[in-house]
Amino acid sequence: QNTSPEELADYHKGLEESLKAGWQVLSSGGSAVDAVVAAIKSMEDNPVFNAGKGAVFTSEGKNELDAAIMDGKTLDAGAVAGVEHIKNPIEAAYLVMKDTPHVLLASVGAEKFAVSKGIPLTGEEYFVIAKRHEQLKAAKTHNKISLDHDNPDPTLAFNDNKYGTVGAVALDVNGNLAAGTSTGGMTNKLPGRVGDSPIIGAGTYANNATAAISCTGTGEKFITVGAAQNIHDRCRFLHEPVEEAIKDVLLEVQEIEGVGGIIALDAKGNFGAFFNAKGMLRGTIGSSDPTFHTAVFGTDPFPEK
Ligand code: ASP
Repeated sequence: QNTSPEELADYHKGLEESLKAGWQVLSSGGSAVDAVVAAIKSMEDNPVFNAGKGAVFTSEGKNELDAAIMDGKTLDAGAVAGVEHIKNPIEAAYLVMKDTPHVLLASVGAEKFAVSKGIPLTGEEYFVIAKRHEQLKAAKTHNKISLDHDNPDPTLAFNDNKYGTVGAVALDVNGNLAAGTSTGGMTNKLPGRVGDSPIIGAGTYANNATAAISCTGTGEKFITVGAAQNIHDRCRFLHEPVEEAIKDVLLEVQEIEGVGGIIALDAKGNFGAFFNAKGMLRGTIGSSDPTFHTAVFGTDPFPEK
């Protein structure tokens, strides 16, 4: 676990800020969708996470960002892929859901749409933080496409053992669920590569009948096992509890050599967080336990705080 105490503190702080942003919405009677947007926006603005500012680089040293949101009540969803000039891709995804008949807009078209909705474009330099250059260099040296948690060179102290992609799931006072995910993808990915995060049913899914789900990890594997939809189907047709469904699906991901983690929440408030790596940044807050719980390592969802 080559994470410094300072880094760990930053992760816990970032998670707590995000939980606060989401909880503020939920505790004042706001919707699960708005809570998810607020929680994710907070993490996109925080350079410690691999989303928005601080996102990982493509093989050409650029940031191409993906994000998605889904409303479990209406089954409406919105997503953007490969955007390079939008500070908060989750906001653009939300607007795709709210204001278009589409689910996923990509690249230049997504940016044009965002501008038409009043979202200003930002310069590429906004997203750049130094450690991502180092990670790209290391990934290239080892000819790897890496997750934020991968450690292409164990001597590099900046490498993380955990996930930087951000996701949030929420249940509101009206019993509605929502899920969202935002990411820079994988270090050294080919330009134009789109991962699982903005693919509804792969990295993100929500349905009041079952659960709200957000995934992180080797995107290609989550796409091919249809991870998030697969969890929904298990809950719906096999009546698996959500904690069991996420474990079963992560096993499917593991069988094809995928690594990652999943968070899920059902309409009764049952929550699951499961991962097959050394750690996954995670946290909860809820009306039955209105304190912020955050964790990075361990297998127990919340062992540290
Ligand atoms: N799932 C993301 C992707 O493949 C990466 C991650 O979660 O770290 O784009």
